[in-house]
Amino acid sequence: MQCSCTAVATYATCELKYRLLYVDRVRRSPTIYHILGTHIHSVLRFIHSQPLLTPSEEEAIKFFLQLSDSGFYGNTAEKRSAIMQGIEMIRRYYADTDVAGVRVIATELPVRFSAGSAAAHCITGRIDRIDATKDGYEVIDYKTSRHMMSPQEQKRDLQLTLYARAVMERYADRMHATDSVSVSLYYVRTGTIIRSQRTRSDIKRIDTIVDQMAQSIQQSVYHPRPGSICAHCEVRQYCPEYRTHRKHNY
Ligand code: SF4
Repeated sequence: MQCSCTAVATYATCELKYRLLYVDRVRRSPTIYHILGTHIHSVLRFIHSQPLLTPSEEEAIKFFLQLSDSGFYGNTAEKRSAIMQGIEMIRRYYADTDVAGVRVIATELPVRFSAGSAAAHCITGRIDRIDATKDGYEVIDYKTSRHMMSPQEQKRDLQLTLYARAVMERYADRMHATDSVSVSLYYVRTGTIIRSQRTRSDIKRIDTIVDQMAQSIQQSVYHPRPGSICAHCEVRQYCPEYRTHRKHNY
């Protein structure tokens, strides 16, 4: 089996959601938030990937405006709203971050590693940013959504665990001094960072999940896991469980 870190994390969250997204491939039109999110990720990469001088705030905004011009927004009002939100996020980022001081070692890094008890499966992904810190490495995953995970949810987040595993394997020769990788969610709208650690024992549980996932796909068995996540599930309109769950819980 070959699949992305996002797909594995989706499966661990709700097997039915995985089926809707990756097996049934239900159609989702890109919203203003998807387009804006993609542009902000590109701007953050632009800020941290210049070889000589870190771009100024004005240069970053100019780059964002160029992207927005080519973005396929539904109408002028949507585009104007996205531009205002984007500029606010960039200004906040510069106010909150020492952009020239952070030791960024990779941006939008493609990763690939084997997983499962027999290492029979291939997991791929793309990490937004990796920093070198005084204790080792920090994975940073940018979020442009309004909804934020709680610190408890962040500690359990499988996508971050997968990224930590990718970093441990990629920099294995430099990992002898530490047993863990820092993982952070950076909410660009508010500047909120939720940080935790992933140890070597944390990353071992990935193999069990990937084995279960491969078996589930083979048998076409996908159990729904209705809960608080349903309110933010992007495929809830296709989910028969959602209506039942909402009726009894909201
Ligand atoms: S709405 Fe809830 S139960 Fe349905 S697919 Fe999404 S997360 Fe799963």
